[in-house]
Amino acid sequence: MAYAKLFDSSKCIACRGCQKACKNWNQDPAEKTTNRGTHQNPPDLSHQTRTVVRFKEQEGGDLGIIWTFFKDSCRHCIEPACKMIADGTDEQAVVITDTGAVIYNERTAKVEGMNCGYNIPKQEKDGAPYVKCTLCFDRITNGLQPACVTTCPTGALEFGKREDIVKLALQRVEEAKKRYPDAHISSDYKEVNYIQVFHYKEDMFEMYADREKQQKIKMASRRDLLNPKKAAGMISKLLG
Ligand code: SF4
Ligand code: SF4
Ligand code: SF4
Repeated sequence: MAYAKLFDSSKCIACRGCQKACKNWNQDPAEKTTNRGTHQNPPDLSHQTRTVVRFKEQEGGDLGIIWTFFKDSCRHCIEPACKMIADGTDEQAVVITDTGAVIYNERTAKVEGMNCGYNIPKQEKDGAPYVKCTLCFDRITNGLQPACVTTCPTGALEFGKREDIVKLALQRVEEAKKRYPDAHISSDYKEVNYIQVFHYKEDMFEMYADREKQQKIKMASRRDLLNPKKAAGMISKLLG
């Protein structure tokens, strides 16, 4: 069954419980952090941090300046750019499961130039394993919710059947619009299994990800569906 996860920024209070629950479940160590003038810490995703809550101040129209939050992690794409790249080295290195989770394994470390428009795959150094959110594959295939969803105190994170999550997201947009007229669903929601509702104007795809890079990878791979090695070479050239 295909599942999906929802993040609704209108309900997020930036407690970072999801960040911590993710580390606990995956036994990822804490990172040494410094005060950089923001509550966002660690500064980015890494081989030790699979999800991070991003903090930003934005112009909120009639609402003035609003403080906005976004839980960033792998989008579990339906056509993952990372897999298109990995297939050039090893077609088993990135696996799309029927749960919708995109999973890495010990073979992924051998893939050269892993990349995606969301800047998700992280490794400590060349040759080390690539690390990212697993959609808690080990939990969801055992009847549990993802650890981050279980811990979220406000209902900003939800998990369920993909069709139900899409319906819920569209419903949440309508609810949020009563207070925030710019509320919308993420522009990529038909392409991913991690769907977002934003109560502010900007779409996080534009803010933190690179739509152009994602499209270039996909186009190059589609052109060379029968020759993943050639596609991977073309992608590396395109991305410089
Ligand atoms: S646990 Fe929920 S409310 Fe807290 S930061 Fe994460 S998404 Fe936001
Ligand atoms: S967000 Fe990036 S790493 Fe995650 S499945 Fe999509 S392409 Fe792969
Ligand atoms: S689904 Fe699991 S691995 Fe992914 S961010 Fe949530 S807790 Fe971490």
